[in-house]
Amino acid sequence: MSENQRTPGFSTHAIHTGQDIDEVYGAVVPPLHLSTTFAPDGIGNLRNGYDYGRAGNPTRTALQQQLAALEGGRHAFSFGSGLAAEDAIIRGLMRPGQRLVMGNDAYGGTYRLFARVHGDWGITNTPIDLADHERVAAELQHSDATLLWVETPSNPLMGVTDIRALADIAHAHDALLVVDNTFATPYLQQPLSLGADVVVHSTTKYIGGHSDVVGGAVVLGEGNAADDLAEKVAFQQFAVGAVSGPLDAYLTTRGLKTLGVRMDRHSSNALALARHFEGHPAVERVLYPGLESHPQHQLAASQMRDFGGMVSLQLAGGEPAARKVAEGTKWFILAESLGGVESLMNYPHEMTHASVRGTELAVPENLLRLSVGIEDVEDLIDDVEKALAGL
Ligand code: PLP
Repeated sequence: MSENQRTPGFSTHAIHTGQDIDEVYGAVVPPLHLSTTFAPDGIGNLRNGYDYGRAGNPTRTALQQQLAALEGGRHAFSFGSGLAAEDAIIRGLMRPGQRLVMGNDAYGGTYRLFARVHGDWGITNTPIDLADHERVAAELQHSDATLLWVETPSNPLMGVTDIRALADIAHAHDALLVVDNTFATPYLQQPLSLGADVVVHSTTKYIGGHSDVVGGAVVLGEGNAADDLAEKVAFQQFAVGAVSGPLDAYLTTRGLKTLGVRMDRHSSNALALARHFEGHPAVERVLYPGLESHPQHQLAASQMRDFGGMVSLQLAGGEPAARKVAEGTKWFILAESLGGVESLMNYPHEMTHASVRGTELAVPENLLRLSVGIEDVEDLIDDVEKALAGL
């Protein structure tokens, strides 16, 4: 292959796609377009297709082009949050009376959205163990099940789901496969290439990467069927209007440019920390797909480039120990969210997953979720060691 035909790699796309040099001033970083409205060249003659900020904005377009390229898709839509993106998928691709099948370890807010918002509008959901492929097929066999929702790795139990196998099962039953790729990011895992129909992200997390912007995205692939789905999601984005604002889109684009290098460091830090605490007397179990002891380690290795920055720990001392450690670290900041450069500590039972307590999606009370940042890993390990020593 000649030099000119080379397909750009991930980070080359991340830095250049959608980032054309400004034609007026030659600015290397495209300008941030805050304008809510765009003057046409006379009635009906839009300049480059823009008329109003909810319908479209050049800064948002730049982000959407970047996201589509990085997921290996053709269409991407940027939203004001991950849940807004999820809502656009459900409302765009489902109808009242239909049912979705989902993993019973999905993010609590996703379950709350499906159960308590869409449920009231007649779209039902069935949470099940997605490792049980016979059960998945049986649930999809019902004529009212049209969509299979997978989150892999899952939040916070770090379960890994076989995307290729579930795509085959979904398609055999005329259902769509949606993959929440928030934990892995397109750098580590590309669900469209594994057979998924739709990818969704909370870009608030690794894609933004600096804990300073809330956002979400939907990405769809190539071909007529994908074009058809894209039209439906595009209509939701336009008609409902849960779009990302220009500044949010700009910050997300900036974050995306460094996604590859950040994910390499998140992954190596997380693996070092997970290995260090496996077998520690105060730790009952380390949940990290990069450990050989993880039940789906081989599967994760077959569909991910690396294993990411999220590690969960179950503590031998139960709930009191988990609470004490959560409040006892220095570099790991006790906070909601994940995926930023700084390390965060979360007690899901009472924080991110409080809304699913008492349901099938409830998380163990002795579980801590660590978003391992890109600081020096020796400092991070020392921090958790000291907190455990204080038990
Ligand atoms: N999906 C996953 C896996 C998440 O962890 C989250 C948020 O924590 C969401 C979706 C929802 O995204 P947002 O908080 O941006 O609405």
